[in-house]
Amino acid sequence: MSVERLTHLVRDLQPCVVLTGAGISTESGIPDFRSPEGIWARYDPMQYATIDAFLADPVKVWDFYGKRLHVLRDAEPNDGHRALAELEDRGWVSAVITQNVDRLHERAGTRALVEVHGSIRTSSCLDCGTVVPFDEVVQLLEDAPAPACPSCGRVLKPDVVMFGELLPDAAIARASQLASEAGLMLVVGSTLEVYPVAGLPLETLAAGGSLAIVNRGRTPLDGRAALTIDGGAGETLRALAAFLPARR
Ligand SMILES: [Zn+2]
Repeated sequence: MSVERLTHLVRDLQPCVVLTGAGISTESGIPDFRSPEGIWARYDPMQYATIDAFLADPVKVWDFYGKRLHVLRDAEPNDGHRALAELEDRGWVSAVITQNVDRLHERAGTRALVEVHGSIRTSSCLDCGTVVPFDEVVQLLEDAPAPACPSCGRVLKPDVVMFGELLPDAAIARASQLASEAGLMLVVGSTLEVYPVAGLPLETLAAGGSLAIVNRGRTPLDGRAALTIDGGAGETLRALAAFLPARR
């Protein structure tokens, strides 16, 4: 029933912009670091996830992430990622804004993608600006605890937004524009707790658009949403895509 209702909202409230968080990637085996059982419940993010921690001891931070990198390398897009790419192809989804850094939307085929927290796709040298792709970083990590810049030798920084860093200007500006132009913002797998991304649905609402939320568990904006579905991203989006053939 609720997926049918969601279908009507997507059909009637174009353009539909999707905002995704960690909950869409857990079905691909990528842990949600912020969940009650997540990494940050066991490790202090101040020691491993802040830009200050990285600058103070980049090898320690790489050692922490290096042990988890194989999960990101081996993860495959799931039904949720694939359904969103199909809905974009069919003209029902105009863009996906994601808090995830795992590349799974891109690998599923989403083209209009805004990665507001950056991506593991590349790492960069903070001194000389050399950019190194993910696969090469994985190679470098096989021989050293931290990947060194091939040009100058400084430890590379992954191009993901760490705590204490500003979000990339262009990405957040684009996300904000999409949010304010959306007839419907569909939030998938985000608890809407991390600002400024959590403020994007408010921009949609302020501009007269509507909000739908698919998430396991509650979010602070449930009361403002036209529809909330407490369910899995994969099964819900798969069902939604089945209801929405190509747009005419
Ligand atoms: Zn360099």
